[in-house]
Amino acid sequence: MNLSSIDIPNQVQRLVQLGGKFAVPLYSCDKIIFEFIKNIEHNFKKLQSSVHNTIRNKSITIINSVFSKFKKKNLNKIKIYKLIYITKQFLKNNSNIIFTRADKGNTTVAMDKDDYITKVNSMLQDEKTYKICEHVEKRIRKKSKFLNMADFLDTTIIKMGNSLIFDWYQKPTYSGRFLNFMSQHPISQKKGVLYGLVDPAFHLSHPMFHEKNLKFIVKILLDNDYPKDFIFYNMNDRIKTLINRQNKVTELQPMRREKIKWFSIPYVEGVSEKFKNIINGMCQKVCFFSMNKLNYFIKAQKDPMSRGAKRNVVYKINCNQCEASYIGQTGRKLDTRIAEHKKHINSVSSSHSVITDHRMEFSHEFDWNNCEILDVERYYNKRLVSEMIYINRQKKGLNLQTDTDALGHTYTDILNKI
Ligand SMILES: [Zn+2]
Repeated sequence: MNLSSIDIPNQVQRLVQLGGKFAVPLYSCDKIIFEFIKNIEHNFKKLQSSVHNTIRNKSITIINSVFSKFKKKNLNKIKIYKLIYITKQFLKNNSNIIFTRADKGNTTVAMDKDDYITKVNSMLQDEKTYKICEHVEKRIRKKSKFLNMADFLDTTIIKMGNSLIFDWYQKPTYSGRFLNFMSQHPISQKKGVLYGLVDPAFHLSHPMFHEKNLKFIVKILLDNDYPKDFIFYNMNDRIKTLINRQNKVTELQPMRREKIKWFSIPYVEGVSEKFKNIINGMCQKVCFFSMNKLNYFIKAQKDPMSRGAKRNVVYKINCNQCEASYIGQTGRKLDTRIAEHKKHINSVSSSHSVITDHRMEFSHEFDWNNCEILDVERYYNKRLVSEMIYINRQKKGLNLQTDTDALGHTYTDILNKI
């Protein structure tokens, strides 16, 4: 929906319409490999140390397969990268436009920034807004009484003679947007989307509406780029399951639920699935999460944070006079941590600093204002692993060798290949 004063090019529309949850396949191998290593090591917190090395060694084979995966051309991927490039350019040239999520319904809305700010302010001050809502609600209730139909949750109740029949109903704010098939999500999640549509259509509606509703679902799924074969195969399958379930008298048995421990790993199509073979059975199950979501564009109403205000970062400071660099991590604001490095030289404390040593020994100064952010990672443990990976990759690093001891040597070969 475009509420802004600017015409939005088709290609930009196509991208933002995919929604904030759409996961874009990562562009480069290195980022994927770093994320795998970070998460494998992070999962070890939940596992006995005796299995760590076995898992590490087996994971190496899987991580290695990322390289060959990236050599193959993927047309869908190239299409999306093009759209992202065009969208970035568009946002750069039209800094007054923002994309945000509609309050209701799964829709992306484009607005003028000034307009958005004025609207939010007036909404907060205007008490009438609430009165209007009440009024509209009453009117809808009156109307539905009149029609013998009441829209209740996702069901429309229709009075037919003396009986009530039900039909599945979509709210007026219904956008028809679901997780797009091209998103870097496991196939199970895409089946889940289909089940999420078929199940209510089946359970909440009278059989006379089934055909109409299922046709409608096919249309929705096609709109979200689901292939026909996928839709028909899984729809048939699901309906069979639902009918079987209905016919079965289910005996309720108290389920003994053991707490499942999850081994979570980023999802990369054709690669991440392989982790199931090595993890399942080690009293853990594999679960996937998606990286690189389009939220980046769509939550844009926040003003971009300055580099120094960012928290949870892995950073690199370069020496102005030579190739030397230092890599560190902090959960606090980057500016705060950098100020500490800078001031350390004046402190009387006996704490050791390799940066201070370098400044004293060579009379070199660091480029404090152009500190690079290498990674942003909320979890402390993953941030530590990330820091070690980057230290390992430094050419002329000042970090001490012991800083990377915990990473182990298993990953050295892979990291050298990147
Ligand atoms: Zn230097």
